[in-house]
Amino acid sequence: MQRHISAKILGLFFLSMCVSGCVVAPKILEKSMNKVRQSPPYTVSDEAKAVHEQLSVVDLHADPLLWNRNLLKKHSYGHIDFPRLREANVAIQVFGVVTKTPKKMNFESNPSNTDNITALAMLQCWPHRTWGSLFERALYEAEKLKKFEKKSDGNVMVIRSVSDLNNLLEKRKTNPEIVGGILSLEGVQALEGDLKNLDALYDAGFRIIGLTHFFDNEAAGSAHGVDKGGLTPFGKDLVKKIQEKHMIIDLAHASPKTIDDVLVMTSGPVIVSHTGVKGMCNNIRNLSDAHVKQIAATGGVMGIAMFEETVCGKTIKDTARSIRYVANLVGVDHVAVGSDFDGAVTAPTDITGMPLLTEALMDEGFSDEDIAKIMGGNAIRVFSQVLPAE
Ligand SMILES: [Zn+2]
Repeated sequence: MQRHISAKILGLFFLSMCVSGCVVAPKILEKSMNKVRQSPPYTVSDEAKAVHEQLSVVDLHADPLLWNRNLLKKHSYGHIDFPRLREANVAIQVFGVVTKTPKKMNFESNPSNTDNITALAMLQCWPHRTWGSLFERALYEAEKLKKFEKKSDGNVMVIRSVSDLNNLLEKRKTNPEIVGGILSLEGVQALEGDLKNLDALYDAGFRIIGLTHFFDNEAAGSAHGVDKGGLTPFGKDLVKKIQEKHMIIDLAHASPKTIDDVLVMTSGPVIVSHTGVKGMCNNIRNLSDAHVKQIAATGGVMGIAMFEETVCGKTIKDTARSIRYVANLVGVDHVAVGSDFDGAVTAPTDITGMPLLTEALMDEGFSDEDIAKIMGGNAIRVFSQVLPAE
């Protein structure tokens, strides 16, 4: 009996260790990585509130799928979950899928042979299959979003086509509670060098493909890589295939050479989902004026991010200022928002601070019509142009 009880206690001990290992430790870690400078609630003028409520807001990039939170529930930490997306009147959230980040990650130069996400996957008790495979990590994070969709009573829709997109926008006219989600890969290292894996990711719902993350990969050079080269022959085949499959190319984190190589190959709009511009904040991560002009010339959009390192300022007003810069340079049709929330950044606010951006854009002198384009209309235009019809 004594032994039996001991075994039971031991079992409970291991169970609680596991639960605390999978829940408590990741929570502590995430709290330290996805901070806000100002806690909610956030207040804006009645006028800004009225303008914001009329918008179809699109955020072109955030990484909540990297963390263990149940996104159907509202949390007091992290930047994004579905209840907060609803509060922020977000129509479409693009969900970035991170599979590998280098140790001692920095903007200037990162080798490709180290990885933080293996430890994070283990710490968060992700399935064993994800521990050694970047491809499995991408699939697993996509499965998370689809699970949220299934359990959402119709209030989360994964967008895979123009028909889904139109359906979402139509439904939101009577039920603004519905939030659309688009899956986006952050770096094609997740293909593990095999072009066929793009088909599998497409089937898993991915519709936006970011070529690089913080290091050079088999396809392309990263702005933060060691060599910072352009497209490799594999990368050129891949870009061709991405376009054939009606997926959207994302040049965030791409090296200048990669951007040049992609731009000579593309026939339609490309995006830079979460970025800043050198003209306002001169660093290796941000776009030169020449690239801003060339990307606009594809009909594409650039999502200005909402954290200090991209806009050289700590507030949402700084994001609005970079948006104004791009609009002055290439017109209002090519600038959008890509927060990078939950991407291990310290953000000015969580997603419920979005109305503050609307207010800051009003202060920048944008018309209601311009604001509707910047806050979502431009992104929706590109989705409609590139995504498959069905
Ligand atoms: Zn990123």
